Amino acid sequence: MEEKVDVSATQGVPRNVIPAHLLKGQKALVTGANSGIGRATAVALGRAGADVVVNYVAGREEADKVVEEITAFGVRAAAYEADVSNEDQVVAMTERMVEEFGTIDILVANAGMQRDAAFPEMSLAQWQKVLDVNLTGQFLCAREATKEFLRRGVVPEVSSAAGKIICMSSVHQIIPWAGHVNYAASKGGVQMMMETLAQELAPKKIRVNAIAPGAIRTPINRDAWDTPDAEKDLLRLIPYDRVGDPQDIAHAAVGLASDLMDYVVGTTLYVDGGMTLFPGFATGG
Ligand code: NAD
Repeated sequence: MEEKVDVSATQGVPRNVIPAHLLKGQKALVTGANSGIGRATAVALGRAGADVVVNYVAGREEADKVVEEITAFGVRAAAYEADVSNEDQVVAMTERMVEEFGTIDILVANAGMQRDAAFPEMSLAQWQKVLDVNLTGQFLCAREATKEFLRRGVVPEVSSAAGKIICMSSVHQIIPWAGHVNYAASKGGVQMMMETLAQELAPKKIRVNAIAPGAIRTPINRDAWDTPDAEKDLLRLIPYDRVGDPQDIAHAAVGLASDLMDYVVGTTLYVDGGMTLFPGFATGG
C-alpha cells in the first residue's frame, strides 16, 4: 500500500512546532499585538513559556482576547495601551512592564501601518504618520527596552543575552514599492536602524535582528488576498505558492528570541516564501 505523506505543513498553515519552555522565565513585549502578526507572535511567545505584554493602541477587547489565549498556557500576560510613536506613552509602558513583570528580555517591535497614495497625491501627514509609527515607534521602544537590558545585564539562567530586539521590517526594506513610498522608506530605515543598533549593542550582549515578512494574510493588506483574483495575482510573486500566515512569522520570532539563535546578530530573516528571489526571472527573464 502506498505510504501517506503528511504535507500539511508545506501546503497550508504550518503546524504548531513550538517547544514549550523554550523561553521559560523570559518577559516579552510585543507592540501592535492585538492583530495579525503581532497577535500570532504574542501567542507563540506565550506558548514557548514567556510572560507577555500585549501592546495595543486601539481595540482593548481584541487585546484582552489575546491575553486570555496566552494565559491559557500557564504564563502571565497583560494588555497595555500605548501609541508607539508617542515618547511619553512608550516610556510609561516600559516602566510599567518593569514594575509589574520585573524586567524585559524580549522586544518585538511589530506595530506598523500603511497610508498609501500615488506620490504626487501623498500628503505630508500620510508620509509623517507612517514614518512616526513604523520607524520612530521602533526607535522609541528599542531605546527604552535597551535601558532595561543594560541595567539588568545577562542572567545566565534565563538567557545567554542581556536582551533581544526583533524589528518587524518587510521585504519592502529592499523591494521598491510604487504607491507606498512612505512605507518602503520606513522599512528601509528600519533595516539600517536595526543593523546600527546591532553593531552598537552587541558588545553589551544585546542581540538586535529583524524579520522581513513577505505577503502575510492580515488586515493590513486585505485587498491583496481577499478575492480569488487578487490572491492569484499575488501568488505570481511567491515561488512557494502560498500566501503567508501570521504563524509563519511568529515561529521565526520565537526562534530569533531564543538562545537557539544566540549567535545571530544584526541579521534580517526574510520570511517570504521566496518573494525576494526575483520570481519574474524564474522563466528565464
Ligand atoms: P495589522 O494591521 O494586522 O497589525 C498592525 C498592528 O499595529 C495593529 O495591532 C495596530 O493597531 C498596531 N498599531 C498601528 N499603529 C500603532 C501605534 N501607533 N501604536 C501601537 N500599535 C499600533 O498588520 P500586520 O500585517 O500584522 O502588521 C504587523 C507588522 O508586520 C507591521 O510592521 C507591518 O509593516 C509588517 N509587515 C506585514 C506584512 C503583511 O503582509 N501583513 C508584510 C511585511 C511586513
